[in-house]
Amino acid sequence: MPQPYRAPLRDMQFVLRELAGLDEVAKLPGFEEASDVADAVLEEAAVFASEVLDPLNAPGDREGCTWRNGEVTTPKGFKEAYKQFARAGWIGLPVPGEYGGQGLPQLMVGPTHEMWSAANLGFSNGPGLNQNAIETLELTGNDEQKHHYIPKLVSGEWTGTMNLTEPQAGSDLAAVRTKAIPDGDHYKISGQKIFITFGEHDLSQNIVHLVLARLPGAPEGTKGISMFVVPKFLLKADGSLGERNDVWCASIEHKLGINGNPTCTMNFGEKTGGAIGHLVGQPHRGMEYMFIMMNAARYGVGVQGIGLADRAYQSALAFAKERVQGRDLKDMASRSAPPVTIIHHPDVRRMLMSMKAQIEAMRALAYVTAASLDIANRHPDEKVRAEHKAFIELMTPVVKGWSTDTAIEICSTALQVFGGMGFIEETGIAQQYRDVRITSIYEGTTGIQALDLVGRKLLRDMGKTAMRVVGDMKTFAATLESSTDPDVLAIREQFVNGIDAVAAASLAIGKNAPTDIAASFACSVPYLKLWGIVAGGWQMARAAAIAEKKIAANDVESEFYKTKLATARFFADHVLSQAAWLRHEIVNGSSSVMRVSEDAFELDRKVMTPA
Ligand SMILES: Cc1cc2nc3c(=O)[nH]c(=O)nc-3n(C[C@H](O)[C@H](O)[C@H](O)COP(=O)(O)OP(=O)(O)OC[C@H]3O[C@@H](n4cnc5c(N)ncnc54)[C@H](O)[C@@H]3O)c2cc1C
Repeated sequence: MPQPYRAPLRDMQFVLRELAGLDEVAKLPGFEEASDVADAVLEEAAVFASEVLDPLNAPGDREGCTWRNGEVTTPKGFKEAYKQFARAGWIGLPVPGEYGGQGLPQLMVGPTHEMWSAANLGFSNGPGLNQNAIETLELTGNDEQKHHYIPKLVSGEWTGTMNLTEPQAGSDLAAVRTKAIPDGDHYKISGQKIFITFGEHDLSQNIVHLVLARLPGAPEGTKGISMFVVPKFLLKADGSLGERNDVWCASIEHKLGINGNPTCTMNFGEKTGGAIGHLVGQPHRGMEYMFIMMNAARYGVGVQGIGLADRAYQSALAFAKERVQGRDLKDMASRSAPPVTIIHHPDVRRMLMSMKAQIEAMRALAYVTAASLDIANRHPDEKVRAEHKAFIELMTPVVKGWSTDTAIEICSTALQVFGGMGFIEETGIAQQYRDVRITSIYEGTTGIQALDLVGRKLLRDMGKTAMRVVGDMKTFAATLESSTDPDVLAIREQFVNGIDAVAAASLAIGKNAPTDIAASFACSVPYLKLWGIVAGGWQMARAAAIAEKKIAANDVESEFYKTKLATARFFADHVLSQAAWLRHEIVNGSSSVMRVSEDAFELDRKVMTPA
């Protein structure tokens, strides 16, 4: 039986309050109640995740979704859970009160989203898409679209989707071919989209598709793409449901994981020559708008990775405390010594610590980034807003790419702790391992996040933001010099090396760009990882400094802070120390990436012809 999910509430509280500055966020206009209600929100979310979503996770994976004549049925229990989720108001958590939401900061979305994903990723993909669609329509829709769609998406009566991908247009959305032909007050949309999450299902009355398509004569590439809202059921003038639109689910995919939700092939206009859609915002600005949705979604997928990693770690920890195997190293000489649980073995401890430390670093970085988003949206000072906006733009690909790649490694490590039982479906860890795999693919692969980080975030602003963050990290590192705690000093040493590595790697990439663009992008994924471990290490160093003070003051929770300090030390020695080889890889390794020609890859398969 899979281990039941228990949310890491104490660590979430620590990060929210002591690292991400919930009290500061609560000073922003409109968020005055955030700090007072935060604990209650976390506790209620934890109960919902454990009691409603978690019990459906393994059965949903086993049963999967079914397609019949264009209709899709979700696994047993999902429909009722979705109703409960919507009724409890979880979809509207960050949405302004005027649309029926709760108006809480994005900072609060991080932990709740982490819990939903950990408890049941297949299910939680759905409501997550509602939040992304709401945000996009709120920022780019006209008054009528906002009025008709947003409240229904908030209440959960309707659900949202993102329709970007086509068979020939995956990472490269410039290749989108779906057409939009003007027809009176609307457009006729025709084409096929693939891999659409919750494109069709039985959870809600209507499905609101946000679709990328091209107008006649639109420029080539991403500059010629517009966004349309295409509902499954058309709306009458008063916003109530009308006729069925010409958008159909042709099939659903058979997948490695997240079997609880349907991944749909959607045909637009196959019966009437065009599904009815309405333009969102201005023509040809669809990619810009979709980026609003994608950036929120990318952040959200990073948090999904953290949730799944945390759940896998939790299962591994419980197993390690139960499974008896081998003797304690100190008793090796004695044949009569009793066997011990595997958590006694240093290598199992190392695996558990590596999971715990990386999860805490990723969580801290993700929530700190979310706090920046709230500040960027609401701070009265324009300069402060701009600085935080630049920080989020730099960190979004890092939170997405680093957290998901690391989460995949963590789920693999968790499975390793289970030994052979990890390979058996019953324990549930195999499902975690399968489910987490998608997180580094959808919403842009890690390669695409790294392309964004190097191209748009580093090179385009000539390294200005990256160097500003390097400066902030240096300033903080200097404050650790006065510490007398050996752990804090050791952490500082690795942190300073990490900061130098980021600076050197950024410079090397910048230097290559004018003469050898391939070399400057060749190590973009290692560069993204370097940013992840150093910015994550920054948060762990901040946590260590807080812990040092709390321990010195004999805080009632000294044990929590001692564990935090030990975890931060582990992170510094085992993870942050990798900055040195990443630096070498980026600074010295880019030229060897493209050296072997395309044909030469085949040489090791060719039989040698005798002379
Ligand atoms: C389960 C699931 C759910 C999904 N949900 C949705 C959804 O709701 N809506 C939607 O629109 N899409 C959805 N997708 C599509 C998803 O976003 C794409 O699969 C993803 O963006 C990758 O595109 P691709 O599969 O075409 O891979 P490709 O673009 O073919 O990429 C293949 C490989 O090449 C690399 N690569 C490609 N281009 C570059 C480049 N320029 N530089 C460096 N490396 C590159 C990639 O990193 C990757 O490793 C979903 C996919 C899946 C599997």
